[in-house]
Amino acid sequence: MKKKIVLRRYHIIILFTFLMISIYRSPAYEEKFNPERVKYSKVVALTFDDGPHPYYTLELVRLLVKYNVPATFFFVGKQVEKYPEIVEYITQNSLFKVANHTYSHDNLTKLSEEQIFNELYSTDKIFRSIVKDDSKVLRIFRPPGGRFDEKVLKVANSMNIKMVLWTIFTNDHLNIPKKKLISKIEDYCVSDKEIILLHSGVIETLNAIEEIIRLLYFKGYKFVTVDEIVYGENLIS
Ligand SMILES: [Zn+2]
Repeated sequence: MKKKIVLRRYHIIILFTFLMISIYRSPAYEEKFNPERVKYSKVVALTFDDGPHPYYTLELVRLLVKYNVPATFFFVGKQVEKYPEIVEYITQNSLFKVANHTYSHDNLTKLSEEQIFNELYSTDKIFRSIVKDDSKVLRIFRPPGGRFDEKVLKVANSMNIKMVLWTIFTNDHLNIPKKKLISKIEDYCVSDKEIILLHSGVIETLNAIEEIIRLLYFKGYKFVTVDEIVYGENLIS
């Protein structure tokens, strides 16, 4: 009798273990994630503002590399000065490009033309002193908080630097819960060309990034850097 109960227990344990293994294995996304096999109908650029952050940015990069996903980093000049080795490391990878998010992350509309010029110029100069491949540093900027006016555009135009905002604003900088962030992207990401604004120093964004990649992949998006959307033609092959 005792033997029977013990045996039954073993069966239950074996069954449970088998069940756990199958649950764990069945949605093996990495196996299904094969960009070569997909016919893309849409393109999306993941863009990360602020930073570089000494830990979060590199962790983000590690996950993007894991899925072979290109991205654009809008770095802040004074942070680039602090962590030049991170910028050098990122730009050595063919997946990534960097863009200008000003030197001090101030509201550009409150600055004089000369100050706006300095914000953009000094960041560009720092980038080019660190990054060996010029093509990795985009002549693109994003004003902090998306705040701009005629004066900002005039200065940027005179420097041949193009302003790029976003098509999807996620509010991730407020560290909104992962679930909410993902459902926002799920709901808003519907057009053929999307530029998603995210941040590289936010823990919830980091926690959500793998699911965001999966979601966009299964929605049929091809990942590109932002310049490909801004300047590109024939993006979808
Ligand atoms: Zn910012």
